[in-house]
Parts: sequence; C-alpha cells; structure tokens
Amino acid sequence: MQDNPVHVGKRNKLVNELRNKGIVDLSVLAAISSVPRHWFFPKDFEQFSYRDAAFPIGFEQTISQPFTVAFQTQLLEIQPNSKILEIGTGSGYQAAVLMKMGVELYSIEYIKDLLNLALPVLKKFGDNIKLIHGDGSQGVSKYAPYDGIIVTAGAPALPEILISQLKIGGKLVIPIGEKENEQQMMRFTRISESSVKKESFGECKFVPLIGKNGWNS
Ligand code: SAH
Repeated sequence: MQDNPVHVGKRNKLVNELRNKGIVDLSVLAAISSVPRHWFFPKDFEQFSYRDAAFPIGFEQTISQPFTVAFQTQLLEIQPNSKILEIGTGSGYQAAVLMKMGVELYSIEYIKDLLNLALPVLKKFGDNIKLIHGDGSQGVSKYAPYDGIIVTAGAPALPEILISQLKIGGKLVIPIGEKENEQQMMRFTRISESSVKKESFGECKFVPLIGKNGWNS
C-alpha cells in the first residue's frame, strides 16, 4: 500500500473542496488530508478515490462520500481521547479518519467479509481500535458508555438503546428516515440522565441500517 505525492496532491484538492462546502473543523480536515482514501478502494477503481462521492465496495454497501464523513465527524465534536463507537465499519475509511483524530475507537460491522477486508488496512493506523462483528443497531453495551456514537447507515427511527450507551454530554450522530434511502442527519446530545437535545442537519442518503432496530432482521 503506497501513498505518493500524486495521492497527496489529490487529497489536498479534496480538502479544499470540503472546506468550500462548509467543513470548518480543522482537526477533521487534517485527518482527511492524512488518510489515504485509495487504500479503502478496490484496486481497479483507485482512480475514483479522491472524488467527493460515495462508491460501491461490494456486498451492496458503499464507502461514504468524503463530505459526509467530514460532516458526521464534525458533528461529533470530538475531544482528545474521546471514546467513540462507530456503527457500520464498511470499508474502514471513516474509522481511519477517527483514528487519525486520536480517539479510542470501537467499530461494529454486520458483514463479516467487509470486516475482514477492513482489518489489515486499519492496522496501519495503530492499535487504538476494537473491531466487532455483529448487529450494531443495538449498540455495543460491553464497552459503553461512549463520548460519541456515529451511525453510518440509515435508521428507520431512533434506536433508544443508543442514547442509554452515551455518557452525559455524549453525542449520537445518526441518519434517520421513514424511507430506506432518504434520511435526515440527526444529532442527539444526552444532556442529563433522562433528557436529550435533538437537532437536525438536513437531508442525506445512506444504505439501510439492518438488524433488530434497523429495516429488517
Ligand atoms: N463507515 C463506512 C460506511 C459503510 S456503509 C465507510 O467509511 O466506508 C454502512 C455499513 O453499515 C455497511 O458496511 C453495512 O454492512 C453496515 N451495517 C448496516 N447495518 C448494520 C448493523 N445493524 N450493524 C453493523 N453494521 C451495519
């Protein structure tokens, strides 16, 4: 896996594009500029890796659009050493961006074959990650509570159990929609034991979250 000056140049262009589209968090932009996104692409499609677009990675799944990765990460408002749960490892790209930001990361994926593809690539970004195979629509209670939970697939409704796995002050960033392919980007902040602040950040499009609190099981 190489990363040459041509890749670096393409990444700098991508970061400028994201800045123009409204990403302001410098730690997010720095992470995007340092993660070789082409490592998460099937070899034959590497030339598409620095476009600001989602791309199929097999198993009917996609690597998220860089803007979406940056936007969701920005909404998490990560502090140094935050403990974060990602639901939907997919290609591993979002996970690598979070690792570059220095978080303690837990990432769960339903499709074992995708996890096996992501694992060797993510190893290049250090040891501060635990990859889990299973249904993340129920969260991962074993390692809770988290400072942040990021869901990278579209849910039909808020899985309440995810709120219970947040620390007080913790944030859940999740696309929610009544239709499988149309969602609103939502952020829930647990402001006390029993109260939650809810914010909406516009339309987005994700592959469906499956499992117990997803579209099917
Ligand atoms: N974060 C990924 C985006 C992957 S697309 C990236 O950066 O590439 C969403 C992923 O969520 C898919 O890989 C899909 O298999 C996974 N997924 C869907 N429902 C899930 C569930 N209930 N638990 C865990 N993963 C799930």
